[in-house]
Amino acid sequence: MDDAANLRSAGLRVTAARLAILEAVRAGDHLDTEHITRDVRARVGHVSTQAVYDALHALTDAGLVRRIEPAGSPARYEARVGDNHHHLACRRCDAIIDVDCVVGRAPCLEPSDRHGFVIDEAEVVFWGVCPACQARGAGPSASDGSAAPAADRA
Ligand SMILES: [Zn+2]
Ligand SMILES: [Zn+2]
Repeated sequence: MDDAANLRSAGLRVTAARLAILEAVRAGDHLDTEHITRDVRARVGHVSTQAVYDALHALTDAGLVRRIEPAGSPARYEARVGDNHHHLACRRCDAIIDVDCVVGRAPCLEPSDRHGFVIDEAEVVFWGVCPACQARGAGPSASDGSAAPAADRA
């Protein structure tokens, strides 16, 4: 199905802005709203930030895009929906990479006690340092250089 058909079957009106957002999200790689807005404006001219927010909400609710919200980072959007994939997130830069779901049974995604909840999603983010940031040097714990080892004290 093309994007227009997808919008219609989700009960959404087909607009140039919505089509441009879907294209931007698909072409991008887990973009945040700011990047999507810039991309959409490059495609169709001025669209207000609020309109992009509203459209992203509608598209997310309709299941046409997926929102991921890594801790401490703005929401990011992707067009890969309908599977239960997870993400690798870099602590240093904004890199986010898809990783496929555990194949077969994934016991850690089934809580030992549901406490009566109806569960529709389990979110897994693997945090670390991406290869590019590793190549730039310093380990994951090098956040500040003030903690020089107190050697020769004893
Ligand atoms: Zn990185
Ligand atoms: Zn993804």
